[in-house]
Amino acid sequence: MPIKQSGKRLRVPWRKKLDENGLPLTLPTYMAYCAVAGALRPWNRLGAKTIVTLVTTDDFYFPLFAEAARYFSSQIWHPQRYHGNVLQCSDKNFRHEAEALRDERAILFASPSYQIQEDDRLLSDAVVSLGPRSARHAEAALRRAGLPITNESVELLLTEPWSRLSRAFQDRRDALQAIQRLRSLPKAIPPAASEAESPPSTPDPTLSDMHGFGSSLIEWGYDLAKDIADYKAGIIPWRDVENGVLISGPPGVGKTMFARVLANTCKVPIIYGSASRWQEAGALDEHLKAMRASFDESREKAPSILFIDEIDVFGNRGETDRHSAYMRAVITALLQLLDGFERRKGVVVLGACNYPDLLDSAIKRPGRLDRHIAVPLPDAAARRSILKRHSGVTLCSADYEVFDMATEGMSGADIERLVRDARRAARRQSERLNSLHILDNLRPLVKLPSAYVHSLAVHEAGHALVSHEVGYANVADIKISRWRVEGEYRALGCVEYDVGADRPRTRTFFENAIAVCLAGIAAEIEVFGSFSQGAAGDDAADLNRATELATAMVGAFGMGHTLAVEKFSPNAFARMRSSNPELRREIHNVLETELERAKSIIRLQRAAHQALVTRLVDVDQISGAEVAEIIRNHRRPTVSLAKPERRAAR
Ligand code: ADP
Ligand code: ZN
Repeated sequence: MPIKQSGKRLRVPWRKKLDENGLPLTLPTYMAYCAVAGALRPWNRLGAKTIVTLVTTDDFYFPLFAEAARYFSSQIWHPQRYHGNVLQCSDKNFRHEAEALRDERAILFASPSYQIQEDDRLLSDAVVSLGPRSARHAEAALRRAGLPITNESVELLLTEPWSRLSRAFQDRRDALQAIQRLRSLPKAIPPAASEAESPPSTPDPTLSDMHGFGSSLIEWGYDLAKDIADYKAGIIPWRDVENGVLISGPPGVGKTMFARVLANTCKVPIIYGSASRWQEAGALDEHLKAMRASFDESREKAPSILFIDEIDVFGNRGETDRHSAYMRAVITALLQLLDGFERRKGVVVLGACNYPDLLDSAIKRPGRLDRHIAVPLPDAAARRSILKRHSGVTLCSADYEVFDMATEGMSGADIERLVRDARRAARRQSERLNSLHILDNLRPLVKLPSAYVHSLAVHEAGHALVSHEVGYANVADIKISRWRVEGEYRALGCVEYDVGADRPRTRTFFENAIAVCLAGIAAEIEVFGSFSQGAAGDDAADLNRATELATAMVGAFGMGHTLAVEKFSPNAFARMRSSNPELRREIHNVLETELERAKSIIRLQRAAHQALVTRLVDVDQISGAEVAEIIRNHRRPTVSLAKPERRAAR
């Protein structure tokens, strides 16, 4: 690819003198750096801009190459910035692409197993293969580390897997020591392929082996198993069996897997239907026939479970797109199938969907799929259990923080993919799968600078303090993070509080909620003089939530200057605000007043706030009980600024 070059060319990068004592690159990272710099030679000049994909061969180890590529980018491309956009092709997403396009620079690594896509070629200026390790690089690295250049050492550096090199050579370790360690701890004999390959299998998993589904779905499953057993035993009639449920949740949370396991638990056959597969059958006639066939098959095998995936593709009869007449016919047919008691006798229908709101509400009526259970993304504990289930690997508690952070927002299917990648890496290194492979394959985490952690603590302590001062019942577990996943911006701290569900929803109730919402920002203003978008990651969300609350209070619940309100419909709030300047002004005033109140609470209780911040910076996480105690111990006796619940205070 012809590249027009201009600008000052630096010397060949591996001759470039790095800093005095050779840091910050370890010996193998320096070798990787030589390889990366060699491949990126056309862009090896100050401020060069490119998005380039490096295709790796055989033994590839991302953490090491990522470090090397970042170093290249910090030295050559933007001397002021340490982090360039360095990614694995398989991990990139829209945000990464947007960042790469904005910075006009990115280094993407295609691992050996990755198939380069057309999109990758489109995005990259060049797809370059990363040459194999060369003796020249090994020699240069040894020289740089001040070690004698012997055939044995060069051989070692050329043949040891990158991962082992990376583990042996550490900043704080002398390079010679590292070489000795590598020699004294030779590679383990590869375990039998099948052993390394296959996940630990639970032959017929039942509901009790499942993690991450939430208790209501599991309980419902057990109740169903009992009902079906009773029905089979002739104790109850079919109409007493709860035989229709809608399971919603993001892709990959295990809805299909749940259905399979449920059938195992209930000891009945399962029939897989899929709304989109029915649709592919062809014209309307064929489509309906395919759908009926699934119901008929289920009926023949009754008692049985009919799983209907992607039931939301049926959409809504009310929609007015060009398919509407067609879809109306399909939905009507589906409703008939769901209704026909005789036809459905002995058949439990499980509908799965991503977007329950899109579903025609008639499908959710009693007698059809009248129970709706949402499956959320798995929480941290569930993600660890899912990891264990798929890999057999149990993490030690010291690894929890990194694993929990790096896998936040992942589904069960994502974790399964992570395990697959880790298993592949282990195979390539001829090692048995262990927690290091898992950790190595996580999305890279960036340690937050301490000033950043401090500002997170200031922000979250603000929420906690104000929620305590306005009298929330169970105050606030607070948590902050010291890491963030590279390339992602999400909440790095949080406070959980109990607003008291049974309290009367008076204007005061909403005002308190708004003040608590704004308290993070208020604390930043009090401590730093201003608030930062980056300081909490979720500032925007704080402001948005406060704005929504104020809109509801004033615009929908009649607690503002007028009783004339709009129907409560959060989707319409933005439109209400933009079309009604008076409403907007009133919302603005509410927000301003509550921000001032939050600020003055923090000002008055500055000692308590400071104590919370200090503790939080120390330990990352404080329980609600401890929060309350710290506040009690540092509290300045004052006239309470909390508004009494006027109506409730009798
Ligand atoms: P969905 O139907 O919700 O899109 P799937 O059931 O197809 O999700 O999940 C895909 C794969 O992800 C499953 O085969 C399973 O291996 C894994 N998986 C998802 N959720 C879990 C979970 N909670 N526990 C264990 N594995 C899970
Ligand atoms: Zn906040």
